Amino acid sequence: MNKRDYYEVLGVDKNASADEIKSAFRKLAKKYHPDVSKEENAAEKFKEAQEAYAVLSDPEKRKQYDQFGHSAFNNNGGGFSGFEGFDFGNMSDIFDDLFGGMGFSSSRSSRKKTNSPRKGNDVLHRMTIDFEEAVYGTKKDIKIDVEESCPKCNGAGGFNSKTCSECHGSGTITQEQRTIFGSFLSKTTCPYCKGSGTTFEDICDECRGKGKITNRKTITITVPAGIDTENRLRIAGKGGTGINGGSNGDLYIEFIVRDHDFYQREDDDIYIELPLTITEAVLGTKKDVPTLYGKVELTIPAGTQNGDKMRLRGKGVENVNTKRKGDMYVITKIIIPEKLTREQKKLFEELSYTDLENNKYFKTYKNCIK
Ligand SMILES: [Zn+2]
Ligand SMILES: [Zn+2]
Repeated sequence: MNKRDYYEVLGVDKNASADEIKSAFRKLAKKYHPDVSKEENAAEKFKEAQEAYAVLSDPEKRKQYDQFGHSAFNNNGGGFSGFEGFDFGNMSDIFDDLFGGMGFSSSRSSRKKTNSPRKGNDVLHRMTIDFEEAVYGTKKDIKIDVEESCPKCNGAGGFNSKTCSECHGSGTITQEQRTIFGSFLSKTTCPYCKGSGTTFEDICDECRGKGKITNRKTITITVPAGIDTENRLRIAGKGGTGINGGSNGDLYIEFIVRDHDFYQREDDDIYIELPLTITEAVLGTKKDVPTLYGKVELTIPAGTQNGDKMRLRGKGVENVNTKRKGDMYVITKIIIPEKLTREQKKLFEELSYTDLENNKYFKTYKNCIK
């Protein structure tokens, strides 16, 4: 077998101190650990480094290796092939160091402090409200499932705690994983105590050991004026229960605002279509316009066209953050009568003598059909 020299594998020289060897291995383990590495051949590289470290970190084995090289172990019941001959105990502190500070949340890697307080989950709740409720603000009751600490066991999950016999209280277990590349060490959360390091003589029957119970609760939400679709409101501390005494998560309410028959909303502005008869548009008139804040009299000047836009400043929706009001835009819509009485028809026929020869639209039109 053509094995690389262990010192070469770790990249240290023959006189390297125990600390230098440890630090060299840490670097390699971090780089090649199959749980985290994206390097090619990470598993083989990791296995090679692990094997080198297992020998060089043990003064007795290192001495043998220095004297006899790889052959020192070859007659030792099959050598390293299955790696069974080695005690990985001296590596676990390295894995603690290595993965503890890296912020892994997957169960494949350990957290250094599985018992540390963590914030509960944030919860999202969607709420549909009417147009007016969004504009003026309102109060709404919602029913949500709130996770609370179990009152019977005070959130512990059981009574008479004892140190977990599986992980001896550390909350993690080091597993040897066997793959086609050989075996390597991997740390996982202890499945028996779920990382807490303790188990109970008696499991709490109220929460079935979870330490948490779910209660359906009604809470009143104050919806501020100006809310729009997709706006979110954060209600601190009403999300999932914190873990190990951590703070609760937050509740987020996401709004969907129903359309209104008459008002069209665009951000903080409101658009309405104001229907006018032909006579009103031609002669001009005064019209009551229903705004969000009561009716307003609007002067329609003579000669108003279909689709003319008039602005009512400050008659839009109050912005939910700045509290400034948007505007209202009144778009005229001239209604052409579809049925006429005989007299009306006569009157319209008389009106058709209106001189529009000089109107710019008619002029352009005429120039085009020549
Ligand atoms: Zn355990
Ligand atoms: Zn309980």
